[in-house]
Amino acid sequence: MQQRISFPSGTVSYEFGEHLNSISRLLQSTQVVVVTDQNIGGLYPELAKRFKSIVFPAGEAQKQPEILSAITEQLLALEAGRKHMLVGVGGGVITDITGFAASVYMRGLSFGFVPTSLLAMVDAAVGGKNGINYGVHKNMLGTIRQPEFILFDMAFLKTLPDEEWSNGFAEIIKYACLFDKELFDELSGHDLSWYQHNPSETERVIRKCIDWKNRTVLEDEQEKGLRKLLNFGHTAGHALENTCHISHGQAVAIGMMIACRISETINGLSPSVTETLGKMLRQYRLPTWQAFNAGEILEVLKMDKKRTGETIDYILLNDIGKAEIRALGFDIIYNALKSFADARDR
Ligand code: ADP
Ligand code: ZN
Repeated sequence: MQQRISFPSGTVSYEFGEHLNSISRLLQSTQVVVVTDQNIGGLYPELAKRFKSIVFPAGEAQKQPEILSAITEQLLALEAGRKHMLVGVGGGVITDITGFAASVYMRGLSFGFVPTSLLAMVDAAVGGKNGINYGVHKNMLGTIRQPEFILFDMAFLKTLPDEEWSNGFAEIIKYACLFDKELFDELSGHDLSWYQHNPSETERVIRKCIDWKNRTVLEDEQEKGLRKLLNFGHTAGHALENTCHISHGQAVAIGMMIACRISETINGLSPSVTETLGKMLRQYRLPTWQAFNAGEILEVLKMDKKRTGETIDYILLNDIGKAEIRALGFDIIYNALKSFADARDR
């Protein structure tokens, strides 16, 4: 099924229920360069047989400025010009790198995505944000530009490792907390393995999340206001991710717990909501606590993209399905981080 959505920065064709083979139909330009990682390249060797490919080692460590030189070198070696299209086939790291490189190489090539991880399907590949990290600072360099198409082939999930399923569910749980009490209740009635064994249910949940994300991005593609909501769990989460060397999903899970604890003090969120969220995160094999140094995390947080002067726009919950954006001072954030880090037993 195809769905075309027009954002200010471009129109995207969402291709659901497709097989990777149907990609040929989408490639207006015959000059395609596939960007992927070694895991995907190894599992799906037909990709390299069909397309000129650039293959990077897997992992978040690749998302650093040096990758831009590496990809430029390879595009030059392939004599890639303006008419070439880059197609990122992989998880969020690959879709981010591809979108970013395509946005700046020769001032912009067209690009498309085939997300292969659950996280990329529900979040990273959707919404037009493409970026790379700068040291510990997540997505510090990036662009907002939409891909021509996003092709969803659920068969990729069959080879996805369990930990990566958990990472994807961290974002799914995020959408449920922000917008969708019904989805939250559904998720609390199941667990990771249930969705792994019920692919059509997983696909339905993926489409629901994409829908929530697109509705938000359609209102505010440039993240002037509403789109900030999608950063629930990501403020402390991003700072924890590269400082504590944990996965994005794990960082977001802990970040959501921190945001809930702050919501308890600032918004009067019922602690029972935090407890329910914690239980659900554990059901999806995600952590709810992590040791960290509050001062160190605050220093990274100070460079958050949602900072204005001495405050950061923090996403808080009033209840499941009811979120708000609140400017919080560094002192409040520091105290919350410190008491969270000190409360191992919670
Ligand atoms: P993200 O969590 O943002 O998608 P990555 O791009 O790093 O981050 O993907 C997570 C990991 O999962 C990487 O090691 C990647 O190679 C691997 N991966 C992605 N998709 C699949 C898949 N369909 N099968 C097996 N491994 C995959
Ligand atoms: Zn995320």
